[in-house]
Amino acid sequence: MNEQLDSQGRLRHLVTLDGLSGDLLTGLMDRAKAYLLAPGKPGPGDGALNGLTVCQLFFEASTRTKISFELAARRQGADVVNLVIPTSSAAKGETVLDTLLTIQSMAVDIFVVRHKAAGLMSNIVAQLGDRASLINAGEGQLSHPTQGLLDVFTIRQHNKNFKNLSIAITGDIRHSRVARSTYQALLALGVDDLRLIAPENLLPESNELTHGRRYTNFDAGIADCDVVMMLRLQKERMQSGDIPDLDSYRKQYCLTPQRLKLARGNAIVMHPGPINRGIEMDSEIADGRQSVVRQQVGNGVAIRMAVLAAIADGKKS
Ligand code: ASP
Repeated sequence: MNEQLDSQGRLRHLVTLDGLSGDLLTGLMDRAKAYLLAPGKPGPGDGALNGLTVCQLFFEASTRTKISFELAARRQGADVVNLVIPTSSAAKGETVLDTLLTIQSMAVDIFVVRHKAAGLMSNIVAQLGDRASLINAGEGQLSHPTQGLLDVFTIRQHNKNFKNLSIAITGDIRHSRVARSTYQALLALGVDDLRLIAPENLLPESNELTHGRRYTNFDAGIADCDVVMMLRLQKERMQSGDIPDLDSYRKQYCLTPQRLKLARGNAIVMHPGPINRGIEMDSEIADGRQSVVRQQVGNGVAIRMAVLAAIADGKKS
């Protein structure tokens, strides 16, 4: 989606990672690194958003993404406002586009939006034009670009080179916007050995994520992996017939200490959160030596500081 970039190839909006170059993603990671005090420990920022206003609209539930965008924007010097959706005029039937354009009239520079409707973000960008920027903070099961960025950023902190990594994405891939965005980033950065592990009905459709090798057998899929990325069962996006029996899901797909031994000894374990403990992974793993789940959260602030700063560059020049 080229509307994301301005005529000089700089980020104007961030709607999807699909089509962004490995160089652009690397530039954002390098910038995020400069905002960290240590891996997973975001620092104070550099005022890149001084004088700008950010408005957050979360039409779906959020803990990590919402708080980390707000902290990132504030630490970069922005003025931040949040629309509380249930008590807004959305409750009177105002459309998302009307809501955004109304708020934009109050001189908002950057919108951070999460919504369940796939395809909405491109429509918003078309309506906003040059008047304001949009950052997608989660769009249905389609994309979650800043999560994809923070995932590859975290992987890079543990591995020098993407090319030779073996990465397993496992769990409810079909309904996961995180899986799609992280997959797109990994491909752009040159990862060859990508494995998708899930029960048949939670694997993506056959014409999607086609580069990944598909496994329904968890143990075969994670053998000798460098990165094991677990995903939440997204019941809110499933048809009732898709919801697996939790006991049998646990038996076949829960990451246990015994299963993790099949991956490389120094493999890292990731999860975008929130975790269903005991279903997707045991607590022993979630809180264990190989888990980088909390590091991902801290890195998320730095990545969002970098994305906001990159967008602010274009506005200030
Ligand atoms: N927090 C992530 C998302 O919003 C992952 C999840 O909800 O499972 O997509």
